[in-house]
Amino acid sequence: MAPGPPRVAVIRPVEGREGALVRLVDGPPTPACVHLDEAAGWDLWAVDEEDWAEEGGDGSVGLRELADHVDERTWSLVARGVQLVRFARDHRYCGRCATALESGEGSGRRCPHCGLSVFPRVDPAVIVLVEDDAGRALLARNARFPEGRYSCIAGFVEPGETLEDCVRREVAEEVGVELDRVRYEGSQPWPFPHSLMVAFTAHYAGGVPAGDGVEIVDTRWFEPSDLPSLPPPASIARRLIDAWLVRQGGAPSEPVSWD
Ligand SMILES: [Zn+2]
Repeated sequence: MAPGPPRVAVIRPVEGREGALVRLVDGPPTPACVHLDEAAGWDLWAVDEEDWAEEGGDGSVGLRELADHVDERTWSLVARGVQLVRFARDHRYCGRCATALESGEGSGRRCPHCGLSVFPRVDPAVIVLVEDDAGRALLARNARFPEGRYSCIAGFVEPGETLEDCVRREVAEEVGVELDRVRYEGSQPWPFPHSLMVAFTAHYAGGVPAGDGVEIVDTRWFEPSDLPSLPPPASIARRLIDAWLVRQGGAPSEPVSWD
């Protein structure tokens, strides 16, 4: 099948919640563009705004806001483009010998002087929905959340730690609860700025839930009939919660689609 017409995501990484400002313009791509893939009938490319000759800025939206304007696959590809552009900006010189880096294998960059190769960074993080024998879900309220919102418990993996160890440690530290039956459910790239969210369910094994008062300001058991404000539908946190609701509704215990 012939590829669709080219479209270029012109990207300016920014600090703060949005991660990047993005505008989608009709191609053709320049040599500075990186090919993403086809989506929604377009052949998608990404480029750093600094390497795009055309003046612009009008019509740029934040990466989070872009999710309201394009389909999920397009958004995921643009999010990958944002991470590649940010990586190239943050790795202009070799960290070992300070020579300017060149394009390397795949998404990597390589030092022509000493041979050091660097690749885009991905930070693994876990997110877990804890369930008790009564079928209730333990959700927590992070100090940074919008008013009224609760979600699953999440945290970054530390060096030397397995994902399952991280689930148990984060839940113990943040809400004081012990777990068993930690089970993998799926994963989701989370480009703010470069995480991979790895999702789990776990069974409550003891302890009295209480927030740490710093990061977690409240934590509570919830019934399916009495839910707080939840995270957005595109997030894997929401998919964990939705899958729990399906289980509580007596629906077939089929694997939930994570695509
Ligand atoms: Zn070097």
